[in-house]
Amino acid sequence: MILRTVTVGITMTNCYLVGCEETREGVVIDPGGHPDRILRAIEETGLTIRYVLNTHCHFDHMGANADIVEATGALLALHPAELPILEARGGASWFGVPVKASPPPDVELHGGDLLEVGRLRLQVLETPGHSPGGLTFYLAEEKAAFDGDVLFAMGVGRTDLPGGDWETLLRSIREVLFALPDDTVIYPGHGPHTTVGREKRMNPWVS
Ligand SMILES: [Zn+2]
Ligand SMILES: [Zn+2]
Repeated sequence: MILRTVTVGITMTNCYLVGCEETREGVVIDPGGHPDRILRAIEETGLTIRYVLNTHCHFDHMGANADIVEATGALLALHPAELPILEARGGASWFGVPVKASPPPDVELHGGDLLEVGRLRLQVLETPGHSPGGLTFYLAEEKAAFDGDVLFAMGVGRTDLPGGDWETLLRSIREVLFALPDDTVIYPGHGPHTTVGREKRMNPWVS
């Protein structure tokens, strides 16, 4: 797997480029800002981007959707429960930041869907709680899960924004993410990566 992390925007979001080494096809997960940096990284990796994926649609995860979709011709894919947030430009007005509107999704994703990109297989897992249509993209063969703002290294996502819910978040972590093998690497929306096993043992919020 080709993996590049590009840190973008005022909240230091991890935007991930994930690609197949053989076919050099890939996806962009959470282009939250700084489209110039993301496009440069795409060029450097030589990836042909098939999908732009949003784990969820807070502004810091979708702020560069429009630019990346336009530049790459990729399909935008996300969970339909995020549509009101997407249409509110990721809640930009709650935070008082200017954000470019996103195009509507080309593909609506649900739990159990499978995206095939070159040899990569991305399983779509539903992990709501931080936001209503939160998704995790899980690559079992690569032992990698991209979970947005659900579970962080030693932290969990906030649940005070519209559509957030603490009990739902805990269930997503305990029943979905913690059901993955312990050596699965969690690549969160902010901060360093971690593993399922480490968070099970050490995360003070959910262990
Ligand atoms: Zn968020
Ligand atoms: Zn975020």
